[in-house]
Amino acid sequence: MSRADCGTNVAEMLSLLPSGSQATEFSCRAFGSAAALSLPAPRQKPSPIESAEKQLHTMRSIWLMYHDVFKTAPENDLPASAAMYHVSRDRFSRHLNTIRASGLAVRTAAEAIQDDAPPALVITFDDGWAGSFLQGLPLLESVGWRATIFVTRDFIGRPGFCTPGMISAASRAGMEIGVHGTTHRMLSGCTRAEILQEFTGCKEFLENLIRRPVVSASLPGGDLNATIIDCARAAGFVCLCSSVPGVHKRLSSRFKIKRMPIRSTTSDDQIARYCRFAVHSEVMRWAVLETPRRVLGMRNYVRVRRWLLDRRKDSRELWQP
Ligand SMILES: [Zn+2]
Repeated sequence: MSRADCGTNVAEMLSLLPSGSQATEFSCRAFGSAAALSLPAPRQKPSPIESAEKQLHTMRSIWLMYHDVFKTAPENDLPASAAMYHVSRDRFSRHLNTIRASGLAVRTAAEAIQDDAPPALVITFDDGWAGSFLQGLPLLESVGWRATIFVTRDFIGRPGFCTPGMISAASRAGMEIGVHGTTHRMLSGCTRAEILQEFTGCKEFLENLIRRPVVSASLPGGDLNATIIDCARAAGFVCLCSSVPGVHKRLSSRFKIKRMPIRSTTSDDQIARYCRFAVHSEVMRWAVLETPRRVLGMRNYVRVRRWLLDRRKDSRELWQP
């Protein structure tokens, strides 16, 4: 009997062994002496209730990444690569109903990263679009929830974006205001000094405006590396959000927080699934696109993606410094 044959037979024998014993000993004569192998007991499959309890124990929170909420139509002139992340007011309202039906608590970024925080859902908005303040926040307030809004300093006051007054009012209403860069440039192509300026330029502006500490940040394009994390810590942030889909687990870094991107087509069923921390298909899709991201680099990948999606030379360039 060859070693391979023996391996096959061992597998067959194992499949015939009774389950539940603490350990099982048998000999394989093909190796000459009766070498005794001590095998671990077969694992009992956990019950669905045990699995759910274990999952809730390891999962800390699920974070949704919105951009804008519009009343009737997205901003004119918006390139397709941006419009796909703008959600109608009706759809946003349905999403909130779905979240409420799940029973999951809704918390701000700074609350959800606390060590003793129970499982929660975090609603975030990136860029500082006016619609997130004018359409999104009133719906959130109507159900008593608070979101975290990450603002880009140089977008404030531009057409389609928030004003300083909207930011102050949102902060007074209990919303958390965070940083989404000073100019919205991709940080992986920047020097350490430039990255720090991107963080602190926006942070200082917002803190002067709302008269309270700004401790959370999200990254333009989700662009993240060790230097960017180091700079975020140095700038005084306690958490940093990427655009990588996934669940924030108890042992996950607070400086690599994963978020589920919400598109104009994100369904109620998807939101219900996210509330159960079931994000496998989105994580797999992201993994498939990881190769072109690595080959091109994040900055070039985003440019190629925008070019493919927009194909319009006159598209408004909102994100380039
Ligand atoms: Zn952005």
